[in-house]
Amino acid sequence: LAQLFRPLDLLGMVYRTVRQGVIDMGAMFDLIDTPSEVVDAPGAPPLAVARGHVRFEAVEFGYDAGQPILKGIDLDVPPGTTLAVVGPSGAGKSTLARLLYRFYDIGSGRITIDGQDIRAVTQDSLRAAIGIVPQDTVLFNDTIGYNIAYGREGASEADIAAAARGAAISGFIERQPEGYATRVGERGLKLSGGEKQRVAIARTLLKNPPILILDEATSALDSRTEAEIMETLEAIERGRTTVVIAHRLSTIVHADQIVVLEAGRVVERGSHAELLAHGGLYAEMWARQAAESSEEAAQESAAA
Ligand code: ATP
Repeated sequence: LAQLFRPLDLLGMVYRTVRQGVIDMGAMFDLIDTPSEVVDAPGAPPLAVARGHVRFEAVEFGYDAGQPILKGIDLDVPPGTTLAVVGPSGAGKSTLARLLYRFYDIGSGRITIDGQDIRAVTQDSLRAAIGIVPQDTVLFNDTIGYNIAYGREGASEADIAAAARGAAISGFIERQPEGYATRVGERGLKLSGGEKQRVAIARTLLKNPPILILDEATSALDSRTEAEIMETLEAIERGRTTVVIAHRLSTIVHADQIVVLEAGRVVERGSHAELLAHGGLYAEMWARQAAESSEEAAQESAAA
């Protein structure tokens, strides 16, 4: 599955950026992913976020001319609500999230936050307003404390510990002999997928953005870890406008709105119950995932 943010192979560049004290996640991905044509409009003001109302209006986009990827996308995500985006692989889910972060400029239509076209404001202010919890979190060869603080410049130890608590990773860190000074990475502590995701959640809590993009991990976490992570995510979503790129439908049952993308178009939208009743693609995906998970459960109990 294509990932929202490509793995970082330009670590040298990233390191320099970090050393210069540019500690915004987005700025880091900028270096790698943003094509040079995405530039601030002359004299662009910063984004003024009131409540974080996100809208896509008739958005068309393609990576290459003549190859449309997203077609006529209309979305309205009222402040503080959660929109889940589902659909088959390659439908354009991650692309939609990249456009909100303005990795690319759209071909036509508008994306607005609190009524401001995101092309008309500075990229820095746009990205400061949006937190991203990616599928795969990049960790630096540094301490676990540093890795959490990467979410905000000048975070105090108390702030870092509070974020770690919010992400339910403080107990794990405190059990390490060197606590927050424990080194992670190649020659240090190895973190599991779930623990890395908690570091990403802690970073986001420190950044405290009004808007959130969650790119759900496709790699299977065991069901207990997944349930724990879901609880933590629900806690950080509260009060923020959230866009979730979802792969497992079980995790988005409570989303305020669900849109189903297929080949770059919204083919269904509604709540979980509405979409099930509609009996379309969502209902089909739901039935398939339910069958798969009961098969897995049967295999697990047979193995036990
Ligand atoms: P998945 O569930 O597999 O992650 P997705 O719904 O998130 O898929 P996208 O990653 O948004 O799908 O990709 C939508 C389409 O755009 C795909 O056909 C993909 O090949 C294409 N695409 C994605 N990234 C690029 C890129 N950087 N350049 C060109 N085409 C791309």
